[in-house]
Amino acid sequence: MGLLQPDLILEDVFAIDLPRLQANGIKGLLIDLDNTIVPWEESLMEERFITWVQQVKEQGFAICLVTNALENRTANFAGLLEIPAVGRAWKPLNRAFSRGLKLLKLPAAQVAVVGDQLFTDVLGGNRMGLFTILVNPLSTKELKTTKFMRRLEGRVLDKMVQKGQLSAQAVSIRKGGD
Ligand SMILES: [Mg+2]
Repeated sequence: MGLLQPDLILEDVFAIDLPRLQANGIKGLLIDLDNTIVPWEESLMEERFITWVQQVKEQGFAICLVTNALENRTANFAGLLEIPAVGRAWKPLNRAFSRGLKLLKLPAAQVAVVGDQLFTDVLGGNRMGLFTILVNPLSTKELKTTKFMRRLEGRVLDKMVQKGQLSAQAVSIRKGGD
């Protein structure tokens, strides 16, 4: 259960307290793409997410996309945001995150992973020793397999609340799929 426990559960990337992360020694972000900063299958990114990524960079963070999306889609958004990227990353496999860390040139202890899925972003990030931030999915549109995982996610999070590992309030931020 520990490996599925996010360090933070937030509404969206805008709720990330960047100065606080910095104060805690975090210097880089590995950021998920689909349903974290762009809705699944959408080809246009909202301006506010582009601006947010610029702010992250301006505040001195290194940032890299790590996404299971196909290479073309990944390259388009990496180009738009002017950041490095690992596409077809096969999260939660370790190599997805280790490739990202290499691009950031930072050790795991100085990096946070930000994503909308417990079984890819959080599980993989925790296993690599990263600080893990779970955000709400931007859209309820997603792969059938992801929808199935959402139901499991909900159960796992509820169990963590029962065990006192997470606060009910933290989990209530999460609206969940469907
Ligand atoms: Mg995602």
